[in-house]
Amino acid sequence: MKNESSKLSSSQPLDSLIAGRWIAHKSKVAVTNPVDGSTLAQVSSATPDDCLSAVDAAQNAFISWKATAPRVRAEILRKSFEIMIAEQESLARLITLENGKVLSDARAEVAYAAEFFRWFSEEAVRIDGDYRRAPGGANWLMVSRQPVGVALLATPWNFPAAMATRKIGPALAAGCTVVLKPASETPLTALAIAEIMQRAGVPDGVINVVVPSPSGPAVSAMLKSDKVRKLSFTGSTPIGSLLLAQAAEKVINCTMELGGNAPFIVFEDADLAAAIDGAMLAKMRNGGAACTAANRFFVHEKIYDAFAELLTARMSALVLGDGLDAKTTVGPLVSKSQQQQVAKLVDEAKSFGAKVMCGGNASTDGSFGYFPTVLTDVSFDAPILRTEIFGPVAPLVRFSDSDDILAHANNVEHGLVAYVFTRDLGRGMRVSEGLESGMVGLNRGLVSDPAAPFGGVKQSGLGREGAHDGLLAFLETKYVAGNW
Ligand code: NAD
Repeated sequence: MKNESSKLSSSQPLDSLIAGRWIAHKSKVAVTNPVDGSTLAQVSSATPDDCLSAVDAAQNAFISWKATAPRVRAEILRKSFEIMIAEQESLARLITLENGKVLSDARAEVAYAAEFFRWFSEEAVRIDGDYRRAPGGANWLMVSRQPVGVALLATPWNFPAAMATRKIGPALAAGCTVVLKPASETPLTALAIAEIMQRAGVPDGVINVVVPSPSGPAVSAMLKSDKVRKLSFTGSTPIGSLLLAQAAEKVINCTMELGGNAPFIVFEDADLAAAIDGAMLAKMRNGGAACTAANRFFVHEKIYDAFAELLTARMSALVLGDGLDAKTTVGPLVSKSQQQQVAKLVDEAKSFGAKVMCGGNASTDGSFGYFPTVLTDVSFDAPILRTEIFGPVAPLVRFSDSDDILAHANNVEHGLVAYVFTRDLGRGMRVSEGLESGMVGLNRGLVSDPAAPFGGVKQSGLGREGAHDGLLAFLETKYVAGNW
């Protein structure tokens, strides 16, 4: 899997963005191309002190940004959307280079990511309030919304563009200023988006970007600062839980988008072709590295064999390779450790009696690839069903008791999304209501939409992103009791 065209654009920013200036640091963090393990770039690694300077810059810019007319804030976001769409191809290529996902997934991500800027440009001018007479008649109740303040945004490597814009869009729309800390595996896309926002007219200090490596001490220092009033985090449940504990010290407002372990339930009356299309989307979007990825397939015994055969045919037809190559339909995983983690889960599933229908091995050409895999005869208690796989592996469990399956689906600590396939919409709605998840795909393998509230219950997180809820996450409610 050699990637012959992995050079970055000469305008690619590689340094911290603090108070509108690109600042180089002595220490560097290497960004690796997952297709061959080569170093793609050396990015400036910010120290905890550099990160605190970014917080200061955001605090200094906050006073004027919150006073900026919502229409002006909206137009900067709208312009950012337009530039991202105009530069979709180069941004998609950048995502593929640093993340590994195939170009078609990367293009889709850029469109999805840009849409958060368009959506929140429209929401920026719809920040509501309320004005009512108190029920007792003695006074008036006036309610308005104010920006929370400086927001620390921390994002993962799996959607380097969309996880950043899903936070920057509502934060800026609300009047907050931000420090963005992207994953050190994939910082290039976030830096490119910040540069686009500068061109769109975002004032100095409103968006700051730092790439500390290691992340822990720098994030802790920022959370200890009295200036950070919001933490919006997307990443794994263990790190999210650690940061919630740190944020508790200063009672920082938190939105947490954490890990998932999505069940994909196929009842005996499902439209099989639609279920297979949905399964491919829910499993293989982003090569399986999505928090929304179907992780546990529960298929009714009456259609289990047909489902397994069709899914195996589709999965084995996928072509693993360099994401920039037009023939490739699955890219490598982001890192060697991710590849090893997926291999370990599959080996463990085999020792629990699972049968490998296709795949079941890592690529041996020096890339971080793993072949698309279907596992059958997976038992309800197999460890793979309790772990977020984050790779192209579909474990299939056979069930016979339709009344019982909801309890199995809910029997995990996560609750981000679930998928249900049935032609009986009454059953579909009843099961959707009973599922312990923030989102349900009913006869559909994709739920993500900037206009919809995205988020989970249980250990999948707190709060929602996207929709109007995403804007409210960056606003405080102010109530004035008045008499005159
Ligand atoms: P991660 O938790 O390892 O990292 C997320 C962010 O936290 C990164 O910026 C990372 O640098 C930073 N970080 C890591 N250790 C830290 C520490 N000790 N202190 C402070 N910051 C630290 O997650 P990841 O591997 O980048 O991403 C994969 C995870 O993200 C999966 O669990 C996936 O389900 C989840 N995810 C969730 C959503 C959602 O919306 N719910 C979306 C995408 C990904």
